[in-house]
Amino acid sequence: MANSIPRIGVLAIQGDYAAHATALEEAGATPSEIRKPEELGALDGLILPGGESTTMLKFLEKRHFFEALKDFCAHKPVFGTCAGAILLAREVRNPAQRSLGVLDAIVERNAYGRQIDSSILHAETALPGGPLEMVFIRAPRIAAIGAGVEALAWREGFPALVRQGNLMAATFHPELSADRRVHHLFVGLVSGAPAR
Ligand code: GLN
Repeated sequence: MANSIPRIGVLAIQGDYAAHATALEEAGATPSEIRKPEELGALDGLILPGGESTTMLKFLEKRHFFEALKDFCAHKPVFGTCAGAILLAREVRNPAQRSLGVLDAIVERNAYGRQIDSSILHAETALPGGPLEMVFIRAPRIAAIGAGVEALAWREGFPALVRQGNLMAATFHPELSADRRVHHLFVGLVSGAPAR
């Protein structure tokens, strides 16, 4: 898809998909809201937003959307944030839940308890440009990653932003910060991916 503006979908079942669409536009992509498996075919990449992973999962399990999404993940770049990261993971805990299983990571839901379930941190990142603002909302924790997964930012020693080939996942909400480095990274991944 070289030389054209990447078309990146945002799964728009539930959650904060609108903020992702705005962030994608600011990062140089053309966003579109996706609600049906048939709409995946027109996309170069996809974001699975934050929200409630259980609700999204129930929706996806209808009308073969779950299988279509799993297949999309095998061929095109996908970025899961918060609930989206939970959907991508190989294993989900607290409680266990079905997932697409494409990202070699173990993710624990609601890992920070009720007292501190939402917070804004400035944390170390491997991305150029210094510490990254991270907005956490009832956030999961990436408890473990496989050898093929690269951590790009951390929270208290645990990976908060990871990349595995064409997949990215964040336990925070980059769309809610003004800093567009994370969306730029994903748009760059999509732009560099071979057309299929
Ligand atoms: N707590 C939610 C879940 O388990 C995720 C929260 C979010 O996406 N901000 O699905």
